[in-house]
Amino acid sequence: MSSYKNIESALIHGGISTDERTGAVNVPIYQTSTYQQDGLGKMRGYEYSRTGNPTREALEKLIAELEEGYAGFAFGSGMAAITAVLSLLNQGDRVLISSNVYGGTFRVLDKVFNHFGITYTIANTDDLAKYESQITDDVKAVIIESPANPLMTVTDIRGVAEISHQHGLLVIVDNTFMTPYLQRPLTLGADIVVHSATKYLGGHSDVVAGLAVVNSKELAEKLAFIQNSTGGVLGPFDSFLLIRGIKTLAVRMDRHVENAQKAAEFLVSHPAVKTVYYPGLPDAQGYEINKAQAKNGGVMISFELHENYDINVFFESLHLIMLAESLGGVESLVCHPATMTHASIPADIRKKVGITDGLIRLSTGIENIKDILADLSQAIGKAEK
Ligand SMILES: *Cc1c(COP(=O)(O)O)cnc(C)c1O
Repeated sequence: MSSYKNIESALIHGGISTDERTGAVNVPIYQTSTYQQDGLGKMRGYEYSRTGNPTREALEKLIAELEEGYAGFAFGSGMAAITAVLSLLNQGDRVLISSNVYGGTFRVLDKVFNHFGITYTIANTDDLAKYESQITDDVKAVIIESPANPLMTVTDIRGVAEISHQHGLLVIVDNTFMTPYLQRPLTLGADIVVHSATKYLGGHSDVVAGLAVVNSKELAEKLAFIQNSTGGVLGPFDSFLLIRGIKTLAVRMDRHVENAQKAAEFLVSHPAVKTVYYPGLPDAQGYEINKAQAKNGGVMISFELHENYDINVFFESLHLIMLAESLGGVESLVCHPATMTHASIPADIRKKVGITDGLIRLSTGIENIKDILADLSQAIGKAEK
């Protein structure tokens, strides 16, 4: 963190936090596509808003600072950020992906980048010995999520980065689930961090956005070129909304995590619940590794009810908690990964990686925990066959 030692302060004052001209305490929304030039070749730092916009730039500087990277880039969605980062690769290159990678990341590799001769392999990034054996000569990058969606599989980011760098791979971490407040992958050896800022960074389910942060000047130049060439940039108003959301990230995440920990403990002790996946539980897969690389277990929980519970009835009986795609907003949301977030992954692959039809994913909001638990409890009660 360049200017603020503590992240709680950097969230509020990092990047460019005031308006130099007027002293406004918020970055103005520069809703403009172009900029007047004082003469041929005489620009005041901006020429066209795809290339650069002051509101977007404030956000880009902020996320770079928060992730402790060299430069940040803002895109129109998480997938646009991931697509831009994957555009660093060349025809013939292969990418390794965590087995529980986000469905859209899988889809863009499986159905779009394959047209350009870029291939992928699902790798065991959570098992370092196995992982190394999966690096063939054509592998040029790895994409990790930790914890990975929806089984909250933890990957040793430092371990994977070390092995990957011995083989010259680019290490990309999707840090959407943790945010820089809980985990900073560049400090663990990653080269690039990507975010669906739609989730916790925005935090209010009111904006779709993506961010990428790189750790070197060389990568920054390449990604800036791709961002400007392919054009999937974030607009000024959405950039403003994200800056605004990020200001409260620390207090939101503290409450999110506190509620998630309590919800996970409630589910573990509930007789209707078969399994709970949450990295904040001491017997969870990767508990110690997560504890060493992240501030805590994060917010996302997945669980399965026993067979004598009808999950359709469970979803339909919830009052407070809403059935919806996405996560990371102040409100509690549940989803059914097999038919929603991970539906783009073929059934046989879903089964192989453990995404069962009974799996339920909970994004614990910041409502009163008593209301969240009461809602889960009554819906589980109604779902019993
Ligand atoms: C939502 C999500 C994405 C995609 O982001 P969009 O903003 O929806 O394009 C990528 N990775 C993870 C982990 C996500 O949860």
